[in-house]
Amino acid sequence: MATMPALFVSHGAPTLVLDDVPARAFLARVGEDLGRPSAIVVVSAHYETSGVRVNNAAQPRTIHDFGGFPPALYEIQYGAPGAPDLAEEIVALVRKAGMDAATDQSWGFDHGVWVPLSLMYPDADIPVVAVSVDPQAGPAHHHAVGGALSALRERGVLIVGSGSFTHNLHEIPRPFRQIDTAAPGWVQEFADWAAAAIVEGRTDELLHYRRFAPQGQRNHPTEEHFLPLFAAMGAGGGGPGRRLHESTTFAVLRMDAYAFD
Ligand code: ZN
Repeated sequence: MATMPALFVSHGAPTLVLDDVPARAFLARVGEDLGRPSAIVVVSAHYETSGVRVNNAAQPRTIHDFGGFPPALYEIQYGAPGAPDLAEEIVALVRKAGMDAATDQSWGFDHGVWVPLSLMYPDADIPVVAVSVDPQAGPAHHHAVGGALSALRERGVLIVGSGSFTHNLHEIPRPFRQIDTAAPGWVQEFADWAAAAIVEGRTDELLHYRRFAPQGQRNHPTEEHFLPLFAAMGAGGGGPGRRLHESTTFAVLRMDAYAFD
């Protein structure tokens, strides 16, 4: 089984699965490019807990964790099996690295999981384990969680951090229709800084992006959508990343994706 990279992907609005935009085309292609993993671990921005929680259901349920979107989205089911043994192993690895972790069945496949995976692996026949973010715990914690899971990649496990490269929902231009509106300067400036820091491997600055990045606070008023990036960086071994994709939806949601290996 070939070693898999760790990925950060931006999942966008749930409507990404329906919208014909570059980010959707990218996700639909990247699964084929990567090949078939033995299992997929998704650290999702929409699975928010205190401490690390790991879904160990044999068949996690699909969650439509949003309101006011087209009815077709509520019918989507991502029927991939869970991987209870891998979930237990993830808990053990995170605990061994000195952090609080536990198995959990209170949540399931939220749209941070199923938006990218239904495009990347539409057959839903690869086991998937959802892992939470802790919005209060900060970048270094998530980097360490990813680091604890890094060795799983050698067994063909694909580790995916699913969030958003920029994510200020308060500043989405209204009406909420203009998916192809270009990014304003304060989004572009942050995205350019973060992209350079990732490919140059400036991990310390990234971990303290609120201090070092231009417009860090404005692009991530809350941190939960950026934290999966740090999990992917840690899982990749902490070195520089490779940019796989960049685009913008709704002006303020950058859809950039990175590989770390
Ligand atoms: Zn989201």
